[in-house]
Amino acid sequence: MSAPTTTGVRGGFRLEGVHKVYGTGEAAVHALRDINLEIPPGELVAVLGASGSGKTTLLNVIGGIESADSGSIEVAGVRISHRRPSSLGRFRRDHVGFVFQFFNLIPSLTAAENVAVMIELTGRGDRRDVPRLLDAVGLSDRAGHFPAQLSGGQQQRVSIARALATDPDLLLADEPTGALDVATGRTVLELLQDTSRAGRGVVMVTHNEVVSTIADRVVRTSDGRITSVTRNDSPADAAAIRW
Ligand code: ADP
Ligand code: MG
Repeated sequence: MSAPTTTGVRGGFRLEGVHKVYGTGEAAVHALRDINLEIPPGELVAVLGASGSGKTTLLNVIGGIESADSGSIEVAGVRISHRRPSSLGRFRRDHVGFVFQFFNLIPSLTAAENVAVMIELTGRGDRRDVPRLLDAVGLSDRAGHFPAQLSGGQQQRVSIARALATDPDLLLADEPTGALDVATGRTVLELLQDTSRAGRGVVMVTHNEVVSTIADRVVRTSDGRITSVTRNDSPADAAAIRW
């Protein structure tokens, strides 16, 4: 993958005493309970836990898609706790990129247009970089294809190019290989690992132990809590793992 356009190691974040409850009274679900987590810039973090343990909620509060009920959150040097929704939108635009399990590409737009639309919507990045971005994810020859004409792995690579188009400090990926077979999943993980090696923060949610071996740090969740944070001094190469 080609290097990001600006240099420097970025995308660290810190959460202190973060809580998030959905619903009220008898129906209340404690999705996050007293989350404390500090991650330095440029790390690849895997969030590993059972379904319903709060992984997506954690990712969404870090990325400013949802606000926490209490606690303090700082991402890429920006304090995002207690912000209004409009200012969270600005934070997302300026600092984070998202990759989803089911790609979320716009079906009526080509691969190149799906990447370009992010640049237009955010006012960040440069349309002339679209060929470079598609080349970086190995899809130069698919620029004019629509999502339905691409495999799942190719669609996910377009969505990574789209997320990287604004050169975000922090890339957030929610089960990015969950819908993919092993071989195509591996190409997606290589891109995430390359992004962190190029000095960006990356957080990926997974419930696959093998996938988590490529991370610099593994955060385990259970019932809305972080149960362990493990630093991995020799992460596996994404290109070499099997599951
Ligand atoms: P995971 O990603 O680990 O599967 P989630 O963060 O999606 O877990 O969910 C954590 C808990 O919060 C679950 O019990 C889930 O049912 C609940 N939850 C998530 N989103 C909502 C919502 N919008 N409204 C109500 N409950 C929710
Ligand atoms: Mg989830």
